[in-house]
Amino acid sequence: MKERVDVTIIGGGPVGLFGAFYAGMRGMSVRIIDSLPELGGQLMALYPEKFVYDMPGFPEVLAKDLANALIKQSERFSPELAIGQTAETLTKDDDGYLITTSTGEQLPTRTVVVSAGNGAFSPTRVGVEREDEFVGKGITYGVQNKAALTGKKVFIVGGGDSAFDWALNLHGTASEIAIVHRRDEFRAHEETVKQVKELGVEFLLWKQVTELHGSDHLEAVTLTDSQTKETARYEIDSLVVNIGFKSSLGPLKDWGMTITKNQIEVDEHYQTCLPGVFAVGDVCTFDGKLKLIATGVGEAATAVCIAKTMIDPNAKLFPGHSSDMKI
Ligand SMILES: Cc1cc2nc3c(=O)[nH]c(=O)nc-3n(C[C@H](O)[C@H](O)[C@H](O)COP(=O)(O)OP(=O)(O)OC[C@H]3O[C@@H](n4cnc5c(N)ncnc54)[C@H](O)[C@@H]3O)c2cc1C
Repeated sequence: MKERVDVTIIGGGPVGLFGAFYAGMRGMSVRIIDSLPELGGQLMALYPEKFVYDMPGFPEVLAKDLANALIKQSERFSPELAIGQTAETLTKDDDGYLITTSTGEQLPTRTVVVSAGNGAFSPTRVGVEREDEFVGKGITYGVQNKAALTGKKVFIVGGGDSAFDWALNLHGTASEIAIVHRRDEFRAHEETVKQVKELGVEFLLWKQVTELHGSDHLEAVTLTDSQTKETARYEIDSLVVNIGFKSSLGPLKDWGMTITKNQIEVDEHYQTCLPGVFAVGDVCTFDGKLKLIATGVGEAATAVCIAKTMIDPNAKLFPGHSSDMKI
């Protein structure tokens, strides 16, 4: 069994990462658990190449750059990482809690900060044969590496904001872009749709991907017209799938916390109904809750400070200003 830490952060998204930094600044030992193999949460997994405009002090910042900065900031106090594993069970013990993960690790902790976002999430797949074979070899869910699409012929599947944002974003990088959508109506913002149309992006409407072709890498797709059932084969380099993602709080639902509409209820200290277990960021709910990074990181700082005073009743709630500290 691993050593007991002062606080375990469940979810290494932006809110959890800032919570880890703040706990380190308060002299607490920290462990971060994340089911994804990479830290950064939604920023890295869902929209790494999009600009974020509402971070204090950053007129604009790419989501992946923001995530990397938060990772670097958290590393100042060397949190222990348990990534690529899902926190599955929480059991009360004499000195806090014992968390077990999907890889069978037993991780003791004095307090817990749940910053699990929408829960462990996975992208919705197209659902055609050979899809597994081509993941990372021509098929991506969203775009993780824009540079890899330079000069490529790219089909983007989907009719929502993500699909259209990527069509705009890849313009000038990909050599050819087409949007493949099963209907002729889009969920994306009208203005974005207009901009994409003005760029001359091809629209393949009432079409669904029904076959994938290639040997080591995706080389072509067959599209079937959902009205006429006619099929056509298109040679392409890359299929960027943007048809949403599934997420679920999964095992967290069985921990005894009060859950309303997939979010964990917290009090004014961001504490759940379990003593010493806090919930912050997208995963928590309270009157006036905003699902924003800017507000989530504040919730994390408060939760960590309350946790500190629980572990050490002599500790002050307010640690003072970082600019006055020797860090
Ligand atoms: C397309 C898009 C654009 C956005 N743009 C903005 C914007 O401009 N400004 C803004 O403020 N917000 C924006 N948001 C919202 C913002 O990304 C979220 O508010 C933010 O990511 C929430 O951070 P979090 O740390 O609470 O959760 P998340 O980022 O969701 O991270 C949660 C992490 O917890 C992990 N996890 C879940 N369950 C478990 C478990 N049981 N065990 C281990 N790990 C687990 C997940 O794998 C994930 O990595 C945007 C969101 C999207 C989808």
